[in-house]
Amino acid sequence: VRFEVAVAGGGPAGLAVAIQAASRGLSTIVLERASAVPDKACGEGLMPAGVRALERLGVRDRLDPGACSPFAGIRYEQEDGAFVEARFRDGPGLGIRRTALAAALTERALEVGVVLERPCSVIGNEVRGDAHLVRTDGGTIEAGILVAADGLASPIRARAGLDVPERGRRFGIRQHFLVAPWSEHVSVHWAEGVEAYVTPAGAGRTGVAFLWDASRLPQGEKTSFASLLERFPVLAARLASAVPDSTVRGAGPLARTARRRLAPRLALVGDAAGYVDAITGEGLTLAFVSAEALGALLPRALGQGATARSLAPYERAFRRHFRRYAFFARAVLLLSRHVLVRRRALHLLAAAPWAFEAMLAFVAESEPSAR
Ligand SMILES: Cc1cc2nc3c(=O)[nH]c(=O)nc-3n(C[C@H](O)[C@H](O)[C@H](O)COP(=O)(O)OP(=O)(O)OC[C@H]3O[C@@H](n4cnc5c(N)ncnc54)[C@H](O)[C@@H]3O)c2cc1C
Repeated sequence: VRFEVAVAGGGPAGLAVAIQAASRGLSTIVLERASAVPDKACGEGLMPAGVRALERLGVRDRLDPGACSPFAGIRYEQEDGAFVEARFRDGPGLGIRRTALAAALTERALEVGVVLERPCSVIGNEVRGDAHLVRTDGGTIEAGILVAADGLASPIRARAGLDVPERGRRFGIRQHFLVAPWSEHVSVHWAEGVEAYVTPAGAGRTGVAFLWDASRLPQGEKTSFASLLERFPVLAARLASAVPDSTVRGAGPLARTARRRLAPRLALVGDAAGYVDAITGEGLTLAFVSAEALGALLPRALGQGATARSLAPYERAFRRHFRRYAFFARAVLLLSRHVLVRRRALHLLAAAPWAFEAMLAFVAESEPSAR
């Protein structure tokens, strides 16, 4: 069987590329190893620019309203009680249960003609002649191009020699609780070496995610959702009698670097393309806008043999989006590392919330593609 586009991984990035490709008339298959709609450790807060990208994909209206909650902005809160909050200037963000996001993306993908193979694990790949041969546990598929959307660890990125070893020791973990959201913002609680992200994810459901730096927690301490929650007494009190609504899921190490996003008949997208950290909650937005850039280029690039050269505009677009995301993610990571600076900065921002609002407008709302 030959497809013009084969996508390894049916997460948000893979499905978004598939929708973009199939809507342009390209025969497209998604190979996803999970047997059902994949769930994953995620804070589940989509920034306003990501919400607009979902609208452009034709997915926003398909989201189960019971599994999403618009949020007005971001609130930072720290150990000494100081806080600063600001609203987005240009429409809300959206807390979305991952399974609902995946279901809506899947529905839209099937509607535009994507073939979804699930469960189906990609176990090998090589370019031979004018085809990318994609080996799966169910047989081999021939494609004009393989899009690797296989997540942080991306074996395809490694096989292509595009992996740059990283020493990052940041991890994430999350769980949901049946408790009505108590803020119209996504709240970020700061403590030494750990942050907690509280995101509304549907009526009566709140998601709590922790991000932590393993090198900054006491050596030998066993890290679990419960042990991280203990570091946030105010949050722990709120959740004391709340019923869990999901099993705990973790991910990491988070930092991943790819040398580039391209090789002949291969493109990387989503977390597989490189990731700094979840600290600014931009992974999904980055995945959607990158998918858009790649999708727009695919018909022409395939006509030219999907060479690295014909795909080069994708690399340029990706770098533009990624630079901006990485700059802010690294800046906020610096704050998380330097506790005294972070405490002082938060006090300053609390006294000048307009500055926080302006920062938020720049980071979370602007269309990355417009830069
Ligand atoms: C703790 C945490 C909190 C986060 N919070 C936020 C947030 O609030 N907002 C935000 O925007 N982003 C957040 N992110 C980032 C976001 O979750 C990712 O950027 C996003 O999931 C990337 O999507 P993806 O499709 O690239 O990868 P994934 O979602 O990881 O999907 C990859 C898919 O590939 C499949 N796969 C893997 N290998 C194979 C194979 N060999 N064959 C077939 N299929 C395969 C997997 O089953 C999976 O479905 C967070 C991340 C973490 C870890």
